[in-house]
Amino acid sequence: MAEDKEIRYDPAAIEPKWQQRWAADPTIYAADPVDSGKPKYYVLEMLPYPSGALHMGHVRNYAIGDALARQMWMRGYNVLHPMGWDAFGLPAENAAIKNNTPPREWTFANIAAMKRQFDRMGMGFDWSREVTTCLPDYYRWNQWFFLRMYERGLVYRKKSKVNWCPECATVLANEQVVDGRCWRHEDTIVEQRDLEQWFFRITAYAQELLDDLDKLDGWPEKVRTMQRNWIGRSEGTEVDFGVENRPEKIRVFTTRVDTIFGATSVQLAPEHPLVTALAAADSGLKKQVSELLDEQKKAREAGDVGEIEKHGVPTGHFAVNPYSGELVPIWVANYVLLEYGTGAIMSVPGHDVRDFEFAKKYAIPIRRVIAPADPNSEDTELPFLSEDGVLVNSGEFNGLTCSQAQDQLQKLAARSAFGEATVTFRIKDWGVSRQRYWGTPIPMIHCERDGIVPVPDDQLPVILPENIAITQQGGSPLARVPEFVNVTCPKCGGPARRETDTMDTFVDSSWYFYRYTDAKNSTAPFDSAIAQHWFPIDQYIGGVEHAILHLIYSRFWTKVMRDLGMITNDEPVRRLFTQGMVIKDGAKMSKSKGNVVSPDDMVARYGADATRMYSLFAAPPDRDLDWQEDGVAGVSRFLARVYRLVTRYAPQAQSARGHVSEAPPTGTSLKLLRKLHQTIAKITLDFEGRWHFNTSIAAIMEFVNELQAADTELAAGEIPPPVVHELLRTLVLLLAPFAPYLAAELWEDLGGEGAVLRAPWPPSNPELAKEDELEIPVQINGKLISVVRVPADADSDAIQAAALADQKVRARIAGKNVVKVIVVPRKTVNLVVK
Ligand SMILES: [Zn+2]
Ligand SMILES: [Zn+2]
Repeated sequence: MAEDKEIRYDPAAIEPKWQQRWAADPTIYAADPVDSGKPKYYVLEMLPYPSGALHMGHVRNYAIGDALARQMWMRGYNVLHPMGWDAFGLPAENAAIKNNTPPREWTFANIAAMKRQFDRMGMGFDWSREVTTCLPDYYRWNQWFFLRMYERGLVYRKKSKVNWCPECATVLANEQVVDGRCWRHEDTIVEQRDLEQWFFRITAYAQELLDDLDKLDGWPEKVRTMQRNWIGRSEGTEVDFGVENRPEKIRVFTTRVDTIFGATSVQLAPEHPLVTALAAADSGLKKQVSELLDEQKKAREAGDVGEIEKHGVPTGHFAVNPYSGELVPIWVANYVLLEYGTGAIMSVPGHDVRDFEFAKKYAIPIRRVIAPADPNSEDTELPFLSEDGVLVNSGEFNGLTCSQAQDQLQKLAARSAFGEATVTFRIKDWGVSRQRYWGTPIPMIHCERDGIVPVPDDQLPVILPENIAITQQGGSPLARVPEFVNVTCPKCGGPARRETDTMDTFVDSSWYFYRYTDAKNSTAPFDSAIAQHWFPIDQYIGGVEHAILHLIYSRFWTKVMRDLGMITNDEPVRRLFTQGMVIKDGAKMSKSKGNVVSPDDMVARYGADATRMYSLFAAPPDRDLDWQEDGVAGVSRFLARVYRLVTRYAPQAQSARGHVSEAPPTGTSLKLLRKLHQTIAKITLDFEGRWHFNTSIAAIMEFVNELQAADTELAAGEIPPPVVHELLRTLVLLLAPFAPYLAAELWEDLGGEGAVLRAPWPPSNPELAKEDELEIPVQINGKLISVVRVPADADSDAIQAAALADQKVRARIAGKNVVKVIVVPRKTVNLVVK
């Protein structure tokens, strides 16, 4: 193409111009009212933490959602595409300590900076619905929900062992402990402390959370699997062993009650109450137990209790197997945890690897009680782990299969009142207490007379006091603010103390997406009818690191809101997409690795369009993206070519406005139109399917290459103006979801009406898209010999005939025997020749 030196693509001029125009039009990205009559589409990217700057992972995340939102707008949907800020949390508090800035100030400065970046990137968010979780108009509803859940028994308080990060000076959720260390402080070992904590009874919904995963067929299977494992349902039996010469019972949990006649010891956690009782009267035992406890604590701090070197000590006492009356020794073991199951297990070394190793080590008897179902089986070694077997050495239950025995043994336990069938879950109740300042105050009051008294609704919100000293002293900063702490008891009118814990910030993100639907509501979290219109979310987009916590908590919250009668949907999110990471030089971009690429730098150098388009082009959105600045430069050069091409031929195209081509297209016109309609079809399919935007953009590039190849004809005016108009106009429409600034500029150049965002998505004409000839490779004995051209609708016989008539093929098969001809219609021909 002839270079147009005078036409220069200058994103630094185009982009701010449109940014200003868009900023002046508050309706441009606003959703229509719920009665607009249009089909609704709720697309949402996970809201960011206002750290102060967008990173490339953000840009990619939001470029995916924004491309989808724009395409759905063009397809005529009423699109809801809001954004907000997950604004409570620890970094604000740490920054306050470090820089002596109030957390609120720091947070809002960061929000302003990131909002500028979002706007500069051209993200189409409906800011009229902005949710900022650290503002009282939002967090008052966290408090309101807390009270509603308290009324329903879904909030309770208990003393519990908590993970304590000395660096954060706060409690961490189990999920925030990674390999025994704090998720924010990789070098800090998490300690265990006993504290009164508030909990959400998420376990009340464990079964439903598990069952409903089956409904989420729009979610990645890996996320559903992670959630299933996290919920961790296991069916089993609880059985009470007696204790010889003592009144206590030991309740054990087992998933294999069919092996109970093979139990040759009972193992207790070091903190089990019976151990405490026995050790109280036995100083030798007491000392040994405290050593086991130390080992357990160390292993726990290192995060690998499962891998602990297994030690135990016999107590000298005996348990009574309720089925057989057999006495078996009671041990204390360092690998048994009080908080899992019942803190006691029966040890069956004949049928469990861990028990087998333990029994070997301490010379505890090993007994077979399950034989292979097939009497000729050669699987005679112990431990025998299969459940495909029959009982032996099990008294009256001999000969039963494992599953028959489980059933009968459970029934006998229930009848005799020494046990029952149970279902246990790995998921624990959600500890929400945090001894930090920058979070939602828990709306509870402690009165000496009345105990715990909920804050009445008409006293909400409990406002987080501002301008308080944040120090690194332990405990909650709020406890050192007398104006906050000292309060009148709503029940007795006497002096009382406010709860000084704040809520886990995962509370904030558990329901924020409902608030977007009715963000200004001052009398309720949201209007049910409005939320019902928009929910469930049609497409949610975020990182896979949220596969468990955020996505389980928000599913739980939805179910609670449903049971409160606020909504009718069981699940918040219909389709979930988890995008890959952005990596550079082989590692995830992070400050500590020094490989961060700043979006601002890229925008300054190449423009926002090139930056966001590159983030979609460089890899399929679900894969990791290896950042290469050359690639951004390449996309920028491509956009410059598009700009020159469209600008140059816009006058030609403009001259055709309102005219339609009389004659059917032929020659180059037909070739270009065919390519165009193939491109439309491909991109439309990509949006509906797997979102392989990288191939969508590659298809646009191919189309532009063909246009450039026809430059001579274009320049000579040989392509009819109505065809030029359709080619260029459609090119701009196809680019609009990916490069919104350039599309807006060129749309205007072409005389397009209204915003390109509201122009209809172009339909593909399948007749035009059809190839009239196909190129079919011909192989002989697996080797490519030639390529033949056949009509697109040629049948197998015609393709075979064309292949056999080809010069090169004929030369190869001359004098040889063609044993077989395999025709794959529209694809290949294979000849087998001897
Ligand atoms: Zn920490
Ligand atoms: Zn009181």
